[in-house]
Amino acid sequence: MTFQDFNLKPTILAAVEEAGFKEPSPVQKEAIPLVLEGHDMIAQAQTGTGKTAAFGLPMMSMMEADGSVEGLVIVPTRELAMQVSDELYRFGKLSGLKTATVYGGTAYGKQIERIKQASIVVATPGRLQDLLMSGKIKLNPKFVVLDEADEMLDMGFLDEIKNIFTFLPKERQTLMFSATMPKAIRKLAEEILNDPKTVSITKSESTNSKITQYYYVVQDRERDDALVRLIDYKNPDKCIIFCRMKKEVDRLVAHLTAQGFKVSGLHGDMEQKQREVTIRAFKQGGIDIFVATDVAARGLDVNDVTHVFNYHIPFDSESYVHRIGRTGRGGKSGEAITLVSPNELRTIKRIEKDVGAKLITQVIPTRIEVQNSRQDELIEKIANTQITDKAIELVKTLQHDLDIVTIAHLLASMIQNENAVKGKDVIGLGLEEVELLIERAMQNRGNDRGRGRGHGGYRGNNRRRNSHGGGNRHNRNGRSSRNGGGNRG
Ligand code: AMP
Repeated sequence: MTFQDFNLKPTILAAVEEAGFKEPSPVQKEAIPLVLEGHDMIAQAQTGTGKTAAFGLPMMSMMEADGSVEGLVIVPTRELAMQVSDELYRFGKLSGLKTATVYGGTAYGKQIERIKQASIVVATPGRLQDLLMSGKIKLNPKFVVLDEADEMLDMGFLDEIKNIFTFLPKERQTLMFSATMPKAIRKLAEEILNDPKTVSITKSESTNSKITQYYYVVQDRERDDALVRLIDYKNPDKCIIFCRMKKEVDRLVAHLTAQGFKVSGLHGDMEQKQREVTIRAFKQGGIDIFVATDVAARGLDVNDVTHVFNYHIPFDSESYVHRIGRTGRGGKSGEAITLVSPNELRTIKRIEKDVGAKLITQVIPTRIEVQNSRQDELIEKIANTQITDKAIELVKTLQHDLDIVTIAHLLASMIQNENAVKGKDVIGLGLEEVELLIERAMQNRGNDRGRGRGHGGYRGNNRRRNSHGGGNRHNRNGRSSRNGGGNRG
């Protein structure tokens, strides 16, 4: 199935093509036709499943760009507002559909100006309610979307939402998205939706099965060495390393640069221009490694990312899904590699349960193992190297004093030394040890303070999104800046 199979407007289809989407995701396959048919809808889908396009594409396809606000999207947080707005902007720009992002904590004037020019308003409940109640804006949207409805209720926005709907026209198409479907959500749906169709994407469908997920258990102090060793071993063409905090990003960029990697950080506070330049370098291969926080990587749309590393495990399953979804795009396979300390094993188990996928535990490869895997590539590389005139001259000169076998041994030693795997050997934890620890962690679960959400409780707090801030070897293809370059400290 392709996006051509939906009855979308040509300018919307062109934008989808430009975004590089090849195949609709499961939630898109189900939701897009229903929305185009004009139904109200309630969809159970998590972040990372492509839900923004699932409502955005059909909604925008039916818009007229007549200068009025035709669509209203209500989201729980400012970060999500920006993320959704970015995503809708790129789908709508060829159709003349502008978006306005509305959230609290900033001046009213500019936001109101933007709303006046927008076809779509993406807003958080508090500020939206303020604007409507004070009469500063009037909205008459044909489409209303509640995104992450469960999160909004968790954050205590039920009253605001109900109030907002009193300002909206009765004649409208309403779409509701929620990762979970507790009773309060179903009740709200009854109040605001009209004869809705239901879409439910099961967890296993929500993660891409082309992504193999590994985790490595290491002590905290071993994290940096373990990361370098794994990058050496996996030899990614392009990878993203996710951190929790910006200062960790800076530190890792410095550390990896010193090790000779072509690396750059991606900061939330980077200027747009600089961000674009960096992303372009990453796309074109001038940079092999991006180190980023979740927030900074928002909207980052790069194909061909072969590996995603989680330097720290994210706090919640949604971030995890979102992060690892940066690889395995466009039908390609990818690897997600997570470093955890022994006391984070319980988080691994929780994520496995939430995303419905198994994470494979592995042991950090030793220096010898990495060395051996490099040997094969080295042989291949030597066999494929063109003999130059300079090389012939050099051998001739060497032959004045040495026999040919000794010369070969010396040259090979030189290459070996340059290609040597440096850094300390990482101890990490063995498989049996990990299993024992998991068992113990799961037994202790009963002592855990209740999360009280009955559905896995993976978002037991509101620190999400911006909270802070096997063994198949890949052939090294000689692309790495570190290969044979001898530029390692
Ligand atoms: P969302 O669940 O809307 O936050 O989307 C998660 C990410 O997947 C975003 O970066 C989207 O641009 C991307 N995405 C959504 N739909 C598709 C698709 N059909 N093919 C490839 N990427 C997609």
